[in-house]
Amino acid sequence: MNLSQARERYVRTGGVELCVAELGDADRPTVVLVHGYPDSKEVWSEVAVRLAEQWHVVLYDVRGHGRSTAPKPLRGGFTLEKLTDDFLAVIDTVSPDRPVHVVGHDWGSVQSWEFVTVGRTEGRIASFTSMSGPSLDHFGHWIKQRMVRPAPRRVGQLLGQGAKSWYVYMLHTPVLPELAWRGPLGKRWPRILERLEKVPAGDYPTASLPDDAAHGAWLYRDNVRARLSKPRPDAYAHAPVQLITPTGDSFLSERLYDGLESWVPTLVRRSLPAKHWVPRTRPDQLSSWISDFVEANESVGGDGVPQQPVPQGPYAQRFGGRLVLVTGAASGIGRATAFAFAEAGARIVAVDRDADGAARTAEMARLIGAPAAWGEAVDVSDEAAMEKLAARVAAEYGIVDVLVNNAGIGLSGSFLETSAEEWKKVLDVNLWGVIHGCRFFGKQMADRGQGGHIVNTASAAAFQPSRALPAYSTSKAAVLMLSECLRAELAEKSIGVSAICPGIVNTNITSTTRFTGVDEAEQDRLRKRTSKLYGRRNYPPEKVADAILRAVVRNQAVVPVTPEARGARLLSRLSPGALRSVARLKPPL
Ligand code: NAD
Repeated sequence: MNLSQARERYVRTGGVELCVAELGDADRPTVVLVHGYPDSKEVWSEVAVRLAEQWHVVLYDVRGHGRSTAPKPLRGGFTLEKLTDDFLAVIDTVSPDRPVHVVGHDWGSVQSWEFVTVGRTEGRIASFTSMSGPSLDHFGHWIKQRMVRPAPRRVGQLLGQGAKSWYVYMLHTPVLPELAWRGPLGKRWPRILERLEKVPAGDYPTASLPDDAAHGAWLYRDNVRARLSKPRPDAYAHAPVQLITPTGDSFLSERLYDGLESWVPTLVRRSLPAKHWVPRTRPDQLSSWISDFVEANESVGGDGVPQQPVPQGPYAQRFGGRLVLVTGAASGIGRATAFAFAEAGARIVAVDRDADGAARTAEMARLIGAPAAWGEAVDVSDEAAMEKLAARVAAEYGIVDVLVNNAGIGLSGSFLETSAEEWKKVLDVNLWGVIHGCRFFGKQMADRGQGGHIVNTASAAAFQPSRALPAYSTSKAAVLMLSECLRAELAEKSIGVSAICPGIVNTNITSTTRFTGVDEAEQDRLRKRTSKLYGRRNYPPEKVADAILRAVVRNQAVVPVTPEARGARLLSRLSPGALRSVARLKPPL
């Protein structure tokens, strides 16, 4: 389906004709998408076709944009009051008897804040998803609070947003913006969007751009100064709000939304690492968050509280509804990581060669909060099996947003006593397992072109040489370097890569680690002894899981976890000679 298959009609209101497009089953709840500046409804095309699989989707060109006519005169024709008249005229036509779910981006969000905070739309809006466009009233109060009590931090916030608003001042100058948009800027805009905002070329922006941008300058002139200087004191939303914040937005500071809770009855916050034009660059993520929010607010109980609460918590903003795949998820760090993502509301694919363990992790993940979770029995060192897994996951659950290549095995013993077979085994799992994961799932992520994150579990052994762990350390050093190289390559695709380097963590790894050059009885003794040592150290895998989620949120490159890992990392840089001396010591076994 695409936007050209939409049913189109014109709605007359207040001296203009609005071009309205509809997709999807008109008997389903209605989602109205409102575009921003300098855009037309086509900015939503990727999101609209995805939403139309489930909802009745309505888009319209704001007055003076796309195929809607412009008011005459332009001055005074774009006030928020008039834009609200337009919105009401549209929803009276497309959904007269049932409240609609509004979604706004940029100026579409600014005007939707007006819709959801004025009395005459009460009962007509079931939910509002806002991205990159604050309420001018809330913004006005935000500025006032910072002027009245100018603590240094608040002044900094004010100056920060002030610098990001340079284009707002420009748009207030007479004639010049119109000349620029109808001249060189209009011509270059698609390339500027592609280069600076990473907006892929396609059916957007449309040929109407120069006119849209020239007319839309009146959105600013008719509203910004007036509202910011006299913000309404009662701009309270009468519907639940979902706020989606792109963390790399060049035009809006995240701080603008501090204190938003006091203006809305329910607030769900989401954030994503992206620039301003998210409807073009992150349509999968947006449509799934919009759908989840619409669904939650469609199944409202008698008490007015949604029956399917949207997960909250420190990481839910970022990972709610995302698809996360963890290998080695049947035990230890992998299982704890799957649970941490589940708690944040992510959908989980738990992969392990231990089928029962993977299934159990999936089952528990669902109990903890994952909206869906699946166990998959796969040996990560098996290239064909990993390729098949990637194809199956993409077909059945979607493209993975966060991939955690964590499966690994231990191997301890001197180099001279390590057989070729043992080398092969540890490299097959610890290194090739990671390579297969990155190749198959990383490729899908890159092809989708909507960002993502890869986490590889390396180890402090990656930068701490030791005579006791030559094969294991080599495999982990390779994982660390692979992660660094991949990070450099995938940055341009907005895919982050992190290497996690734990020290001693209390997991089952000690009971499965192979010790070279010893008989079975000695093997058993060494495993028990190491398990006891790790148990005494007692660093929980949950803390590593927490570091993994944090690494994704902050897009950290290399993350040593545990104090000994952090110490070793520091020494490897400041005093590698000291680490080399430690490497010569015989392990106390
Ligand atoms: P663990 O033994 O508790 O868990 C590892 C999991 O990986 C197990 O469920 C196992 O079945 C699975 N696995 C092993 N080989 C596999 C394969 N070929 N295919 C699919 N699954 C496989 O160990 P852990 O401590 O949780 O280890 C997780 C990762 O952390 C490993 O890469 C390990 O090297 C690394 N690590 C662990 C420590 C530590 O002290 N525990 C320290 C640094 C790094």
